[in-house]
Amino acid sequence: MPVAASLPPRYDGRVPRLRAVVTDLDNTLYSWVDYIVPSLEAMVASLEQTTGRPRIDIIQSLKAVYARHGSNEYPFAIQESSLFHPYDSDFDSFEALVIRPAQHAFAEARRRYLVPYPGVREALLELRERGVPVIALTDAPRNAAEYRVRLLKLDGLLHGLYTLRGYTLPRNVNPEIRRRDAAGHYRLERTRVIELPRAAEKPDPRGLRRVLRDHGLDPAEVVYVGDNVKKDMQVAKTCGVTGVWAEYGTYVSKEYRDRLAIIAAQKVTRRHVPDEGQGRWPCAISSFAQVLELLDRAAAIPRAARRPLPRRR
Ligand SMILES: [Mg+2]
Repeated sequence: MPVAASLPPRYDGRVPRLRAVVTDLDNTLYSWVDYIVPSLEAMVASLEQTTGRPRIDIIQSLKAVYARHGSNEYPFAIQESSLFHPYDSDFDSFEALVIRPAQHAFAEARRRYLVPYPGVREALLELRERGVPVIALTDAPRNAAEYRVRLLKLDGLLHGLYTLRGYTLPRNVNPEIRRRDAAGHYRLERTRVIELPRAAEKPDPRGLRRVLRDHGLDPAEVVYVGDNVKKDMQVAKTCGVTGVWAEYGTYVSKEYRDRLAIIAAQKVTRRHVPDEGQGRWPCAISSFAQVLELLDRAAAIPRAARRPLPRRR
């Protein structure tokens, strides 16, 4: 029998074109709005109760701190807000009677409401199974993003986490928090975390370019998933990566938008939630799990039928 007859069928070139997924975090893997609104409201209610201060004073004072730190989750906002400075002269009683109950109220609400969107965990497990790395790129500061990924139990399901620069612990802080921070309690164990300069905030392309470079990826091999057309999809376009719009992340009720505007610093909120009427993006998905279908579809196109993506500036 001729040797050629025993050879396997000719290779048809059906190899996956997409070999990595880069994803935004807030309102793409979980609803940031659904968790931050009840958590901040619970914290403010606790502060009203323990200090007897008017709600308006508490909210305005906290918002000023959030704006300064560029995060609505800055955990030391209470001790840094000017409203509470008089209590600071005796930090131990301030900590026990005001800060701790407020932090407890925030954490309890977060425990209930910070959950991945349906299907996210399963999709990430499937992608890991297929050997497709998933790398997160967020505009949140390192501390907030890292601890959130930990609480969501996504440590290890993300290949890397690219964040903006984190904040340092303030002078007056519970020694237990300092000890836990030093012991790595708030850090991820399996997902590698990389801090980017503040100037790399999306739609600046530096973050995504760094991801591509660090992982040796060609833009044509990558999909980038995010809910914000003006920021996430713009970054994808600039870098020549296939942008996939997480349209489901933009469904925020008017009630929640209104409650968020009261309680969170607006300048910072824009980082997490796009304004209404941000425009659309041609490739949209209604659930994160659809990323798997996209990868399947790309893999089913024979190589010969593919055209290179147009070079975008
Ligand atoms: Mg987002």
